[in-house]
Amino acid sequence: MTDPLIPATLAFRDNGTPFSPRHNDIYHSAVGALAQAEYVFLQGNQLPERWQRKRVFTVLETGFGMGINFLATWAAWRADPLRCERLHFVSIEKHPFFPDDLRRAYSVTVADTSIAALGVELADAWPMLVPGTHRLEFDGGRVTLTLLFGDATDLLPTLWLRADAFYLDGFSPSKNPELWTPPVFKSLARLAADEATFSTYTSAGDVKRALLQSGFEYKKVDGFGWKRAMLVGRFAPKWRVRRHEPPSPLAMNERHAVVIGTGLAGCALIERLASRGWQVTSLERHASVARDASGNPAGVFHPMLSRDDSVASRITRAGFLYALQRWNALTRDGHLIARGGDGLLQIGASDDEARTMNDALAGFEYPPDYVTRVSQADAQRLANVPLARGGWLFPQGGWIDPASLCAAQCAAAGDRLERRFGVEVARVERSGDQWIVFDTNGRAITAAPVVIFANAHDAARVAGLRYAPTQSVRGQLTLLPSGSVSPLRMPVIGEGYAVPLPNGVTLTGATYDIDDPDPGERAPGHVENLARVAQMWPSIATSIDADRAAGLSGRVAFRCVASDRLPMIGALADESAAIRDAVALRGAWPLDLPRAQGLYGAFAYGSRGLVWAALGAELIASQLEGEPWPLERPLVEDLDPARFLLHALRRGTAA
Ligand SMILES: Cc1cc2nc3c(=O)[nH]c(=O)nc-3n(C[C@H](O)[C@H](O)[C@H](O)COP(=O)(O)OP(=O)(O)OC[C@H]3O[C@@H](n4cnc5c(N)ncnc54)[C@H](O)[C@@H]3O)c2cc1C
Repeated sequence: MTDPLIPATLAFRDNGTPFSPRHNDIYHSAVGALAQAEYVFLQGNQLPERWQRKRVFTVLETGFGMGINFLATWAAWRADPLRCERLHFVSIEKHPFFPDDLRRAYSVTVADTSIAALGVELADAWPMLVPGTHRLEFDGGRVTLTLLFGDATDLLPTLWLRADAFYLDGFSPSKNPELWTPPVFKSLARLAADEATFSTYTSAGDVKRALLQSGFEYKKVDGFGWKRAMLVGRFAPKWRVRRHEPPSPLAMNERHAVVIGTGLAGCALIERLASRGWQVTSLERHASVARDASGNPAGVFHPMLSRDDSVASRITRAGFLYALQRWNALTRDGHLIARGGDGLLQIGASDDEARTMNDALAGFEYPPDYVTRVSQADAQRLANVPLARGGWLFPQGGWIDPASLCAAQCAAAGDRLERRFGVEVARVERSGDQWIVFDTNGRAITAAPVVIFANAHDAARVAGLRYAPTQSVRGQLTLLPSGSVSPLRMPVIGEGYAVPLPNGVTLTGATYDIDDPDPGERAPGHVENLARVAQMWPSIATSIDADRAAGLSGRVAFRCVASDRLPMIGALADESAAIRDAVALRGAWPLDLPRAQGLYGAFAYGSRGLVWAALGAELIASQLEGEPWPLERPLVEDLDPARFLLHALRRGTAA
């Protein structure tokens, strides 16, 4: 189930982590920051007027600091009866504070109690201090804070959003000259909506020049406090140099989507779309949700460690953290999700591997709430059974019953969801601005401007995709009856996995049988599962020998896996149009590809549906709405369902 820990060079740290946390012991620096935020950034960008009556309004800030600008903006949004429906605030921070420091700072410096209360909410939701994109939702998701921890010069080019207002804050040109260079302003210009405004309390000559060169107009206005002048202005380029316009909502008259499939992928989409006010028609060939791969009694969730912080690790980290937020929000809203989230242990495959991995991980300085190295003795104490060696504890990892999650997500969608079971989709066809969905009897069963294929193995066929190489990988689980082995205190993973279920059963697995269509359980599969677990937990072999293992029962299901082992998430390509223009598209980038307007895919979740599904759904919902993406653009491109077509176009083999 878990991927091998791939040896590679340590690319993550060069002369330090891409960001480093900081402690805040200079609270006096924030006194007056609220008034400054209101004057410089809100008034400087003509807010709240400019967001009024809009569906989405996006602020991009270049330095989050203590988050005072965010809190002031959030408070102003709350106080405005004409506020936009959804406020996105995207901010980059190289030296994020620890949440306790934020909490203390707000209590000392923010006199306005309602804003101090928002500060406490922010500190409570504050993400783990690990690199990447973190999406936090407030006020039922109507206020979304997307935080990127790292260097703004590196991260700005990875953003994909349409900014309505820029808060150019957090740096002084004399201290951070690299931030105020033309490439940074070009990145901002690439993201600017027409008529986007900016404000900054600097008025340095270099900044003015870079603004003008990048298509911004500025004027000098009275500054704040000791600053005599500051700059405000707007994006008003005299010439068009952008190759691609920043994202905008899909042009359509109704927010209605058909989602095919009700496994982890489909149910996460149902919830994310309904939360944005979409009507969703769900089509499923079975009689209920979570019946195929998502029908296992439990699955484990945890980050994925690798020595080079690989693409899969980064996507898994973002997915893991986002999924935790969503599941916690569902639970807070009263939905029942059966899960054990009190930690998960990963055991090294061998002493050598554990040693090299520990050396590599030492460089990442992951915080202990993300991962902690544990000795063999500590691992045994945590798991409550003898283990072959030590490894890593993921304090927020655990197990979850996927069917309970799917049910909670559908319940959260309420009456925005129309459920149709026993419907097998055969194909879709464009008619006007709608996609008509046909079943296997050739009947048109429904139509909508958006159709999302969350139907795993069948997605490529039903969507008519030729460049979506997926494979079916059979997996057999084995259930160890209650009392047959010592009870584990938390899931243990490594070569295989063992998960304690609430009914006393221990779930073990799983086989990985490529292109094996046999749906029946096989005795050798159970023996194999036990042997794999015995490599981490040797005494299990004395509790259950091979003969007894062969007689156990379990479950068989099939993973849908893309040939590069990454999921397929996003807008589908119009393959026919791309092939017609194959010569012109030989040097194409993902944004150049023609897309099948309104068709999206969320499939090939392989062995990681639990950690990828919520983020995948949020990404597609953001793409549909033209909202900021919840993941860096290069990573989104690694998940693009059109990536195989793009490779073929680049090689000149697309035909
Ligand atoms: C043995 C095993 C162990 C696993 N362990 C873990 C784990 O520990 N942690 C983890 O994160 N992941 C695990 N996984 C992977 C995880 O289960 C999958 O990634 C996830 O369930 C995929 O969800 P899905 O919604 O994409 O697919 P599915 O759950 O397969 O759902 C697809 C749905 O689409 C429907 N459908 C298909 N075609 C059509 C059609 N034409 N018309 C209508 N409906 C259609 C199907 O009926 C099905 O309900 C495991 C998988 C296996 C097999």
